[in-house]
Amino acid sequence: MATSSLQSLIAKRLEGKVAIITGGASGIGAATAKLFVQHGAKVTIADIQNDLGNSLVYEIGTERIMFVHCNVAIECDIQNVVDATIAKFGKLDIMFSNAGISGKAISSILDVDYDVIKNVFDVNVVGSFLCAKHAARVMISNNTKGSIIFTASMVTTKYSDFLHTYVASKNAVLGLSKNIGVELGKYGIRVNCISPYGIGTPLALKAFGITGREMVDKWFAEAGILKGGALLELQDVANGVLYLASDDSKYVSGLNLIIDGGYSTTNVALTEAYNKLFL
Ligand code: NAD
Repeated sequence: MATSSLQSLIAKRLEGKVAIITGGASGIGAATAKLFVQHGAKVTIADIQNDLGNSLVYEIGTERIMFVHCNVAIECDIQNVVDATIAKFGKLDIMFSNAGISGKAISSILDVDYDVIKNVFDVNVVGSFLCAKHAARVMISNNTKGSIIFTASMVTTKYSDFLHTYVASKNAVLGLSKNIGVELGKYGIRVNCISPYGIGTPLALKAFGITGREMVDKWFAEAGILKGGALLELQDVANGVLYLASDDSKYVSGLNLIIDGGYSTTNVALTEAYNKLFL
């Protein structure tokens, strides 16, 4: 069967919906943008990478998707993206606040410096606040029972001895999502997080100073709990975001949807220490 006929058989779970995806030019955001469009949504990609953002629009077609340059840490940029979306597509149903940076990953608390903390918090935390604020502004005034989704991370479930700035920022995002979910519930607006395990996007490669995608995939696969060749892919995360964005999750709010193949349920250190000491 031809791809187009196959696509027409797939139920469109976002028909008539309008979404903004920050950090939509690359990685998780770009995969989600493509999936949302396949499911009938109109999408605005908000990102600082103009060339990547514009080429995605070129690939998908300008009727269903547009790119707006936006630094999420700057309030007037977010305000502009939201207003441009209303002007082009008429409303806003879904805000996927996904843009993020990692800062320097392998660093001791003794080496953390103010500029790195400020930079990471400006993008990951201030950006999330601003996305939520301006999405809520138009959702409330248009009486839209919208969905706000943040990309947090598996680092909201398991802790380590590195990535301090990033981990603190993502836990702030999780706290923000739970708190504003309480406030926005009275308007019928749902607020959730998605928390993926590691995936070899530019952000991850940069964070760990690894140049080859294969190496980072190998590392994540080795540390993962699901074996047998299973690897977290962008599509797996996008599918989770689709669920939170669509009416399939119409009574789901306050959730941290962890997509980690069971990684957060483990305590490998205990077994490792047992094996080392007693076997
Ligand atoms: P990515 O590098 O492919 O995408 C990040 C996007 O955010 C890029 O397009 C980048 O240009 C954009 N961005 C960065 N700063 C911005 C700013 N100030 N304003 C607007 N856009 C900005 O990486 P990704 O892995 O797809 O990251 C997406 C989200 O997923 C991030 O929030 C990240 O923290 C989170 N995450 C990633 C992983 C992983 O292992 N890759 C795991 C868990 C969570």
